[in-house]
Amino acid sequence: MSAGVASRTPHRSSAWQSELARGYRRPDELLAALGLDPAHLPAARAGHASFPVRVPRGFVARMRHGDPDDPLLRQVLPLAAEQDDDPGFVRDPVGDLSALSAPGVLHKYHGRALLITTGACAINCRYCFRRHFPYGDAHAARDQWGPALAYLRGRPELTEVILSGGDPLTLPDHRLAPLAAELDAIGHLRRLRVHSRLPVVLPERVDDAFVQWFAGGRLQPVMVLHANHANELDTSVAAACDRLRQAGVTLLNQAVLLRGINDDVASQEALSERLFAMGVLPYYLHQLDRVAGATHFLVPDASARALAAALAERLPGYLVPQLTREDAGAPAKTPLSTPGHG
Ligand SMILES: *Cc1c(COP(=O)(O)O)cnc(C)c1O
Ligand code: SF4
Repeated sequence: MSAGVASRTPHRSSAWQSELARGYRRPDELLAALGLDPAHLPAARAGHASFPVRVPRGFVARMRHGDPDDPLLRQVLPLAAEQDDDPGFVRDPVGDLSALSAPGVLHKYHGRALLITTGACAINCRYCFRRHFPYGDAHAARDQWGPALAYLRGRPELTEVILSGGDPLTLPDHRLAPLAAELDAIGHLRRLRVHSRLPVVLPERVDDAFVQWFAGGRLQPVMVLHANHANELDTSVAAACDRLRQAGVTLLNQAVLLRGINDDVASQEALSERLFAMGVLPYYLHQLDRVAGATHFLVPDASARALAAALAERLPGYLVPQLTREDAGAPAKTPLSTPGHG
């Protein structure tokens, strides 16, 4: 497939694109790479049939060999529990599919709009709402940013544009750089924000060509990473963060609260400490979107609040992420207050 894409474009594929293409895409090869019992295979195959396994090799290299409960593995390996039904868990929990303001544009919050640049990701996280729209290119702006740009130009109250998806950084620079240049030319915009998990799961993506278009223009660059556990953050991720910081990029992280993965004080504390050591501030800790197939990841609100309160007692305020949830139709992410604060 990638060979076909390459033959249709004059652009030479970059190192990160080869790394992306080399990722594991089958449950059996993932289990074999980690020396895990093939007894996990039937459940993994059942989940894979509806939302395929997809994970870069560099991310797998950070997992513990032979440990089925590894916190990174648990994010990508389908378990039998994915088949559990719960009427409170639905296919489009945040109502995004009906909220587009223009093709590829979600403008729900004051002053900033989110561009859905692609439906593709480098990794398939089992807790993600994408699990029901794995080929989500349908409402992406694809090669045509025209209508989205026209919308942004006509909204002088917008100061920030967020490139999101899917994962925007799965798109090649020859598509993203021209988009960034068009955004740069919209006078009322001040910031260009990218929401991406690639600097974590495929840090090769943060190469010179990317840094050039992202940080080389008029707009102030902000990158919101997505790491859920300190073990995700090895030296290759630290090096990618260094390159971004040296180019003047403000680095933040959003994590998802996941049962059995990062729902304890020690894991959250280690994550915040490790992020800050790499020059990244914790931003949001998201309560799980109630998406069908992810019931087993849910941490009850009361436990989530207690965790946030415990974290606030152990860390400086700037290392405590805001615990929030996304409510369809709300004007911002909804904070979950800690006990004693309402
Ligand atoms: C989460 C989100 C944002 C970003 O919200 P911030 O609080 O600015 O991080 C913007 N637009 C949409 C549609 C979102 O879902
Ligand atoms: S959108 Fe984010 S959470 Fe969802 S699969 Fe892609 S990287 Fe994972």
